[in-house]
Amino acid sequence: WGNGIGGWPARRALMTPDRTALVFEGRSTTYAELSRRVNALASRLVAAGVAAGDRVAYLGQNHPAFVDTLFATTLVGAIFVPLNFRLTGPELAYQLTDAAPAVLVHDPAHPAPGATRTIEVDADWPGGGGDAPAAPPVPVDAPAMILYTSGTTGRPKGAVLSHANLIWNTANVLVGVDVSADEVTLVSAPLFHIAALAQTLLPTLAKGGCAVLTPGFDPDHCLDLVERFRVTWMFGVATMYATLAASPRWASADLSSLRELMCGGAPVPESLIRTYLDRGLVLSQGYGMTETAPGVTYLEASRTATHIGSAGLPVFFTDVRLSDLGELEVSGPNVTPGYWNAPDATAAAFTPDGWFRTGDLARVDDAGHHHIVGRVKDMYISGGENVYPAEVENALTGHPDVAEAAVIGVPDTKWGETGHAFVVGAAAAPEADALRAYLRERLAGYKVPTRFTFVTSLPRTASGKVHKPTLRTEVRRDR
Ligand code: ATP
Ligand code: MG
Repeated sequence: WGNGIGGWPARRALMTPDRTALVFEGRSTTYAELSRRVNALASRLVAAGVAAGDRVAYLGQNHPAFVDTLFATTLVGAIFVPLNFRLTGPELAYQLTDAAPAVLVHDPAHPAPGATRTIEVDADWPGGGGDAPAAPPVPVDAPAMILYTSGTTGRPKGAVLSHANLIWNTANVLVGVDVSADEVTLVSAPLFHIAALAQTLLPTLAKGGCAVLTPGFDPDHCLDLVERFRVTWMFGVATMYATLAASPRWASADLSSLRELMCGGAPVPESLIRTYLDRGLVLSQGYGMTETAPGVTYLEASRTATHIGSAGLPVFFTDVRLSDLGELEVSGPNVTPGYWNAPDATAAAFTPDGWFRTGDLARVDDAGHHHIVGRVKDMYISGGENVYPAEVENALTGHPDVAEAAVIGVPDTKWGETGHAFVVGAAAAPEADALRAYLRERLAGYKVPTRFTFVTSLPRTASGKVHKPTLRTEVRRDR
């Protein structure tokens, strides 16, 4: 065994050379072509001086060049660093300084100022072919990637993921989902986040299936692709699935080929799961994070209708436990060795006996199914009672006039803290009194927000999560 995940295209080129690995904007790539391209790019990286342990970054939209760079970099023992192209200049500069890539591969729309050596993804990408460059074998515990977390709670942290971490996550997916060589996987969530990359792209390519890449997420285009390529599998965050269901094409599109719709990375509203069930489709909820490469728990499709809202059971090769305070902790071969350049953050992330602290609160039901209650950092205390915003948000989005909702705890002279809800209305504009009355029928009084702000959209990170620090800043500014 020699080349870690970078060796996958060559393996597949031996096993299934003529099968289609990638489809992108009408062009397809076979496994034989993918392997040749990866070899060519790996030779180019070596010629540019890239050696084992160096970083190679990628900045751009989903594109076959992303896949080529991922495999070429890891083939020569270097570390792949996918960057979020929606970051602002200073945010990007921080990550570039932190990761210090030897080479940056970028698309024409996303040049990075100040990067030393760059390779631009031009119109004739992919080009070339050839043999793999001579490179020493890659130890299975060597770092394969640095992926920055979403930055939902603070500045993104560079999670190091080893070849072993990614291999074990692939194994977890292959045990949990019945992935086949006939899979046609739609990859329209951004690949610089772990979910689309490690939950769907890598397992699809390991099995010799086909990944249909889209540069961005356009719901109508995605529905077209589902019909045209008979897509079987995809990953999305809840906002993507909500946007798909809101498309005018939703009712009439032929979705009969879809058999596995993974949803996670952020809370999944129960109302959304029901919308899909009504359409004969199952959203299978998964829970995970960048640091665990990413899968931690998963609810099998066959159980979704009977366990609505649960994120399921621990994935096969990974253990979870709850701390006394209800925080979920993870142990297993998919857990990061630590953060890049951040020994203090790494030390703080592990318990004395070596379990990874997720920062998420969970509860486990009698059947062992996990329910993600919310983030430790989001919980607030109103009149001495703990309130978990995710529960309130889930109740709010059950109201027909509410499209999206986010709740934060804000200081309050009477209660210590109180709930402040930010609500995006659906077709009819909701009213605060009506929402309060609706919630009072469903939740204990202390959980019902006392303040409501109606907005046209919520601030979100590039991975589709509500960015609560922005809401907190808005509230402070208005006071
Ligand atoms: P940062 O760590 O920088 O603050 P982040 O935690 O959002 O950002 P990610 O690694 O992309 O970065 O996301 C992992 C987090 O997403 C989890 O810790 C959890 O809070 C949330 N999450 C993932 N899946 C689910 C789910 N099914 N339900 C609720 N929350 C989820
Ligand atoms: Mg996190």
